[in-house]
Amino acid sequence: MSDRQFVRHQVAEDSAASAALLAAGVALATTAAFTIMMSSPSIRGWAPDASSSGGDAGSNVQLKPDADGKASSRSATRPSRTSHPSDISPGQSKPAGPVVDNSKPIVPGVSLIETLVGHSVEGRPLLCRRIGDGEYVVLMMASIHGNEAAGTPLLNRLAEHLVENYKLLAGVTLVLLPVVNPDGVESRQRYNARGVDLNRNFPAENRQNSSRYGLNALSEPESLAIYQVINDTLPNHIVTLHEPLQCVDYDGPAKELATSMSNFCPLPVKKLGSRHGSLGSYAGVTLGIPTVTFELPGNAAAQSDELLWRFYGEALIQAVLHRHPASL
Ligand SMILES: [Zn+2]
Repeated sequence: MSDRQFVRHQVAEDSAASAALLAAGVALATTAAFTIMMSSPSIRGWAPDASSSGGDAGSNVQLKPDADGKASSRSATRPSRTSHPSDISPGQSKPAGPVVDNSKPIVPGVSLIETLVGHSVEGRPLLCRRIGDGEYVVLMMASIHGNEAAGTPLLNRLAEHLVENYKLLAGVTLVLLPVVNPDGVESRQRYNARGVDLNRNFPAENRQNSSRYGLNALSEPESLAIYQVINDTLPNHIVTLHEPLQCVDYDGPAKELATSMSNFCPLPVKKLGSRHGSLGSYAGVTLGIPTVTFELPGNAAAQSDELLWRFYGEALIQAVLHRHPASL
């Protein structure tokens, strides 16, 4: 532990509305898609619900349309909501579609949406959760390196916390990709099932093609799904969880965000430098979206979910509350 002074949030709760939200979250967690993802014992935090009756995931659902006008206030360097990369071949990834539409606000201004945004090389679903309806969009993801999976239970705890304390979501849409490399998590390896480092597979200006980084940008369905989520949601800032470098790294205009998160956890801000074709290089440097790489310590995987949340939960909450000045 550092001697840093931690600050705790005092959140006023509306118990009735909170209970309704929590119930909705529980209902969400019993869908067929969740059951598929949660069936992997390697993926911490996606606790299996054996009682789930499942169902035909994707049927009788509609994806909630995006709010109009959100993109207009964003940087011109960002991809437009309808743009698609020129280097993506048709059929490169399996068709994605909505899994759950729980978009009716549980309380005014707050909704929960679960969507299928792609499949891994081995066919595992890539799920995206959107919580809230605010104009300011925060994207968080975990387990892009399969042997760095401690971030997944943290993001799940964050979602639970925000459902219980929905007032923290005022003005925010939180987009969560809790497991972006499920094949790597399953096999406990850094790479995806084709041996590609997904965090080197993005179309950043410093990209290098190789068998390890992918023969071309977005050659892998997992990185393509992340790319499309960025295109679709246009996040104001991004947090991606890794291990084991024990620091808050950042790319692009994210020093304030990194500092803000560091103030709420034992991890110091440390600029590690941009890696070839990494998410930080692409989103942070090429697109100019503030991007934090939250590097948990090497022993994070051995810590209980409760301990992880105690050490790092406040920093993640801070990332939800943070507003990048250029976005205001
Ligand atoms: Zn990593």
